[in-house]
Amino acid sequence: MSLKDPELLAIFERRVVLKKVCRKCGALNPINAVKCRRCRSRDLRVKKRFAGKK
Ligand SMILES: [Zn+2]
Repeated sequence: MSLKDPELLAIFERRVVLKKVCRKCGALNPINAVKCRRCRSRDLRVKKRFAGKK
């Protein structure tokens, strides 16, 4: 199996992308998090998906 398999890649991307990033401290939190696990801020944003690869 290679990593270039599009289905595997899609699953992998979904796992990586489904995170929330704290705007204050930059910590990664689970997608279902309401508050940041590090600084407990509620200012979380969903990690953006990058279109295309470099
Ligand atoms: Zn934080």
